[in-house]
Amino acid sequence: MDTAPGELDVGRAVQAAREALKQPSWRSLSGTERGHLMNRLADLVDEHGETLAAIETLDNGKPLSISRSYDVPHFSEVLRYYAGWADKNQGSVIDIGPKKMAYTVKHPVGVCGQIIPWNYPLDTAAWKLGPALSCGNTIVLKLAEQTPLSMLYVAQLIREAGFPPGVVNIISGRGGEAGAALARHQEVDKISFTGSTVTGKEVMRMAAGTLKAVTLETGGKSPLIVFDDANLEQAVRWAHEGVMANQGQMCTATSRLLVQDGIYDSFVERFKAFTEETSILGDPFDGRTYQGPQISKAHAERIMSYISSARNDGAEVFHPRGDLPSRGFFVPPTILTNVKTNTTAFQEEIFGPVAAIARFKGEEEAVEVSNASRYGLAGAVFTKDLGRAHRVARNLEAGMVWVNSSNDSDTRVPFGGVKESGYGRELGEDGLKGYYSVKAVLVNLTDE
Ligand code: NAD
Repeated sequence: MDTAPGELDVGRAVQAAREALKQPSWRSLSGTERGHLMNRLADLVDEHGETLAAIETLDNGKPLSISRSYDVPHFSEVLRYYAGWADKNQGSVIDIGPKKMAYTVKHPVGVCGQIIPWNYPLDTAAWKLGPALSCGNTIVLKLAEQTPLSMLYVAQLIREAGFPPGVVNIISGRGGEAGAALARHQEVDKISFTGSTVTGKEVMRMAAGTLKAVTLETGGKSPLIVFDDANLEQAVRWAHEGVMANQGQMCTATSRLLVQDGIYDSFVERFKAFTEETSILGDPFDGRTYQGPQISKAHAERIMSYISSARNDGAEVFHPRGDLPSRGFFVPPTILTNVKTNTTAFQEEIFGPVAAIARFKGEEEAVEVSNASRYGLAGAVFTKDLGRAHRVARNLEAGMVWVNSSNDSDTRVPFGGVKESGYGRELGEDGLKGYYSVKAVLVNLTDE
């Protein structure tokens, strides 16, 4: 039989996970004991924080200051949060009258296949490992081929923390080979995928073969709406962070900006000035750097081609002054103005430091244009009018809405999208839901 590269390794990893699921060393642990192991892993990640931050920056290109202050500490924070849930994830008793009783028990789903992207290698892994371990599952985690290093390092720490063999299996490998083998594998009970919408659909098709449970965190093109009455300075700073941070490689990037007529010109002027001020591109190990290189040459070229197509579609293109660093796959921070809302730049996910700005007249129009997208990951609204803020939050078709901020996220708050941005949630209590199944037990209390 022909076996594609990667398939054999995936098979071994899945078998190890299946075996570990049966072993008392994992199966018989109480939630409290699982929580201890997870806390121990979080401590080890903190102890190795400097090394992990350097690896993350080396592999991904994001500034070291960010890997240190966000990516690494967030990993251990998520592990600790879900360690706290491990002994609180109880079933319930349902009163169905005097002759019977019913109760529910939460069981782990089983072997969980998890596939992650390259933009936040440590953190997307933590978002999946945390709830899966908390509920007592075993795991095969497939890393992105561009950024395998930090999680391969964490693999050693998982062993050191004392997790039984086979509970967490980490594999690197190409998506079409190792990823596909995992999504198709008969012995995998659940697939949790984070990546592009195109791949998410493919993963779903493959997972359908054995009717696996599937959760998806996919792409986005999130709107950010600025009303006339907004605090302009605040809107500019968040709008900038919302699309330029992490080299613009954020699924939740608020990359479609809608600015109300009355303040359009002054917003654009200030946004350009702030982008100019913060445009420090270069060596990600240099503490002054705001923007590192994009993940790959191909990705940088793809972003540049989106910028050209926007120009051809009539948008005005702004870049801050100065040359790009001579080495590395850099893309200049880019502001596209007077963008038509039906053009590619306003509709497609660019996944780079590119803001597309259009103007609007009234609230209804802003919401309608925002919702005219196949995506529904997030949205942001800037206004001082409390009624309008909540109305727009309610009317946006999105899994998350920020009022007077952008890309704010918290371990305790569910994260995920609607429409073609995926389904299922990560983080918060909702993040556990994809990792247990509910068993109902009905007991006859009579001799009947
Ligand atoms: P991608 O879909 O190409 O790859 C993501 C992962 O899937 C990688 O591990 C890859 O190896 C694997 N993969 C690729 N083809 C596969 C296949 N046929 N079968 C199984 N696995 C396969 O995405 P990307 O370009 O690496 O990442 C960028 C995308 O991820 C963007 O669209 C972004 O919006 C999205 N993303 C979403 C979130 C979210 O939470 N919604 C978070 C981060 C990134």
